[in-house]
Amino acid sequence: GGESTTIARLLHKFDLDNPLRERARSGFPIWGTCAGAILLSDDVREFDREPLGVLPMTVERNAYGSQINSFETDLSIPTLGLEPFHAIFIRAPRITNVRNGINVLASHNGNPVVVTRGSLLATTFHPELTNDTRLHRYFVSECVGFPIDDTETSPVSIRRNY
Ligand code: GLN
Repeated sequence: GGESTTIARLLHKFDLDNPLRERARSGFPIWGTCAGAILLSDDVREFDREPLGVLPMTVERNAYGSQINSFETDLSIPTLGLEPFHAIFIRAPRITNVRNGINVLASHNGNPVVVTRGSLLATTFHPELTNDTRLHRYFVSECVGFPIDDTETSPVSIRRNY
């Protein structure tokens, strides 16, 4: 997360944009949250820079309003189990269209908020701000390809231990 305009400018300035594009295209695992989701997409409205363009989806920045319109809500993410996922949206983007093999894992009011394709994952909210580790575990097992043994501690019991 952060400010996608600034991140895009710095990626370009330090010649990290093309190496990241190449890595993403060759299966390197990348998870973009919020501003990161904007950067991964290939079509950003009201954006005067080049996103990385590795996820075929259309994104509108600050689509819910300004900082005061940031919000929290409980999402259903069926892949992660029945327990709702508490999601924190901070000046979040809205994904308005997904194309070419993108898998939508969760939506909010009809707009995708968790999407994945191959080794790439994008979330428009901030899972790093809660203690629910299920999306991190999903990323490690499905995008990185490193199976996690859940037999001893379920994600829910891990969260309760914090
Ligand atoms: N509004 C920011 C942007 O458009 C994203 C905010 C965030 O990452 N929490 O880049």
